[in-house]
Amino acid sequence: QAKQEQRLSPVAYTPSMETDALARKQFEAKLRNAIEAGELHIVYQPIASTIDMRVCGLEALVRWHSPELGDVPPQKLIAVAEESGLIRSVGDFVLNRVCEDSWRWPNLKLSVNVSPAQLRDVAFVSRFRTMLRKHGVTPGQIEIELTETVLLKDPAPAARKLEQLRNLGITVALDDFGTGFSSISSLRAFPLDRLKIDRSFVQDLGTDPDAATLIQSFVAVARAKRLSVVCEGVETETQAEMIRLLDCDFIQGYLLARPMRVEQMAEFLAGEELRTEAV
Ligand code: C2E
Ligand code: MG
Ligand code: MG
Ligand code: MG
Repeated sequence: QAKQEQRLSPVAYTPSMETDALARKQFEAKLRNAIEAGELHIVYQPIASTIDMRVCGLEALVRWHSPELGDVPPQKLIAVAEESGLIRSVGDFVLNRVCEDSWRWPNLKLSVNVSPAQLRDVAFVSRFRTMLRKHGVTPGQIEIELTETVLLKDPAPAARKLEQLRNLGITVALDDFGTGFSSISSLRAFPLDRLKIDRSFVQDLGTDPDAATLIQSFVAVARAKRLSVVCEGVETETQAEMIRLLDCDFIQGYLLARPMRVEQMAEFLAGEELRTEAV
């Protein structure tokens, strides 16, 4: 009886809950306006082959510079967008922009992050397909990046959608690999093309001997599944050297370049072309 009462009793009210809820609502309203007002933009970060350090892909990352709030962390923006249903608008904005930009870099793979709520959207695959056609984008130029949370929550429909996307020619990467609880088992159940090893492992390279061992084991698993491997968050030459020795295929991180706007990318890539040509 006592237990029952406890369960039914309302959650204790605290004043901060009200302000939190209010702040959340206000943030949501600002985001809604921001999308319409064109305050969102995309930056791209290069991904290079460890063999010759040539750039072979770009990851698109959303940015929101709000006149009121300043630069809003993308993770916060995505979290609020997911909870408020604005994720479809944000996701479509990003996909559209990447499709629009794709003609600039016909030889580069363009990676786009797709959040759990986006993939759960039943119309996601068909809207994606329509968008690609509208912009005349070869699906093989596009890769989507998913984290394992997206796959574990609702495995069967997620696996079906990945299959549909891959049938279109889009490739799929598992992002932030190694940070979840069941990274390895996600690999068994889902059709994937690439693993992106989370930057926390990369950051420990050189200081924590276990980091190299873990990366080595991730690479072994990837090889068994015929997946290529990207290391994220590479900031130093030492890390890059170790990653090369550990047989990873690609690196991404501040060592190579910070994410940048499309206008700066042309200049960056031209410089890279000269550099790799000279080597
Ligand atoms: P992510 O997909 O794992 O993206 C990599 C993050 O690492 C980016 O942060 C990037 O700026 C940062 N990064 C890259 N190189 C380095 C490095 O050498 N050192 C360090 N410390 N950081 C590095 P960002 O742009 O803040 O994005 C954070 C997360 O927000 C992303 O993680 C992704 O999960 C999400 N996100 C960003 N853009 C989008 C988007 O357009 N759609 C969705 N659904 N999620 C997005
Ligand atoms: Mg990513
Ligand atoms: Mg990541
Ligand atoms: Mg992440």
